[in-house]
Amino acid sequence: MKLPDMHQADPIPDAALEAVTALLRSGDLFRYTAAADAPVALLETEFAALMGSRYALAVSSCSAALFLSLKALDLPADARVLIPGFTFAAVPSSVLHAGCVPLLCEVGENYRVDLVDFAAKLPQVQAVIISHMRGHTSDMDAIMAMCDEARVPVIEDAAHSLGTLWHGRKIGTIGWIGCFSFQSYKMINAGEGGILITDDADLVARAVIMSGAYEHNWKKHDVLSEAFARHQNRVPLYNLRMSNLSAAVIRPQLPLLQERVEAGRRNHDHLAARLEVSPNIEVPAALSGEARAPDSIQFNLSGLDDDAVDDFVRRTDAAGVKVQVFGRSTDNARAFWNWQFLHDQPELPRTRAMLMRACDVRLPVRLTRPELDAIADTLLKAVQQAAAHKLAVA
Ligand SMILES: *Cc1c(COP(=O)(O)O)cnc(C)c1O
Repeated sequence: MKLPDMHQADPIPDAALEAVTALLRSGDLFRYTAAADAPVALLETEFAALMGSRYALAVSSCSAALFLSLKALDLPADARVLIPGFTFAAVPSSVLHAGCVPLLCEVGENYRVDLVDFAAKLPQVQAVIISHMRGHTSDMDAIMAMCDEARVPVIEDAAHSLGTLWHGRKIGTIGWIGCFSFQSYKMINAGEGGILITDDADLVARAVIMSGAYEHNWKKHDVLSEAFARHQNRVPLYNLRMSNLSAAVIRPQLPLLQERVEAGRRNHDHLAARLEVSPNIEVPAALSGEARAPDSIQFNLSGLDDDAVDDFVRRTDAAGVKVQVFGRSTDNARAFWNWQFLHDQPELPRTRAMLMRACDVRLPVRLTRPELDAIADTLLKAVQQAAAHKLAVA
């Protein structure tokens, strides 16, 4: 069985091709030109309905959505924002961009927020961003109980969690605001794009204006006009709008989401079950109450020293499966020590130990069972050889 190209993005459905062609013929790419029913506006209505939230605002990226969420919360100057120590560099960056100060929280070997460290640091912050990193859901019941008690707003970074459920609730709808990405490696591929959802009219009104709804363009949003009247001309315009072109690429993919989620979960669980026979591989289980929507798999290597871990990565690479160990690949944007733009360099021993053994493999939802088995065979053989080589050298 030939190994698939796991880095190729997913193709865009033909329906998008027709929508894009019509759009290009009309030249109507700016979301606020049409009086009504612009593709971006339709996407917002459809996405809010899909998620069961009151409002949605489509923007240029998930990073932009996180930035606007923080700005729209109207936090005091230099507010501290608690974020997980295991996330993508865009998250601490959006905090800095919003004029806030990130405070990092430990993450456990199951890739989820360490609740003891979270509770200890919560009294020091004015807002929280929970990154469900690689789609791994942290215990949202415990987090929301603590944050509600402390009256601290929670933003969910659900970039990789579109379609994930937590006790039947959609991830991204549990916190005050949920942010999603349409970058090519996420469940819905538009190259670039993001969207935020919330039930708070006042907050979304601020975010809409700041995203670039200058003058009275907010009238083309489905939000109460009193909310806009309060903020007109009082908040800056950052111009982070989505183009109609992106919306035309995204909309035909929304009806495919459920199918992709189920395929992703099936693929992930099959590969996880195969990998777990190895004494050197551990795939952290989902939390009870969590129904995942994976487009990648993460697992921890055990019983291997640094050299053997690097040996495993070299062997898989040579065989045609790209594995990244977050903490051992050079300049990885998900390793907190590479965020040298932070003023205070944090030390998070638990998170660091996890990153040094946690492997990351992309798993496009289109993979077939024989392809998944070929990937499993490659990984199992490489880990066995790396472990045996280590013994032989010792
Ligand atoms: C991809 C990703 C982002 C950034 O999304 P963009 O749309 O590329 O800005 C943020 N957080 C997480 C966890 C991500 O995986």
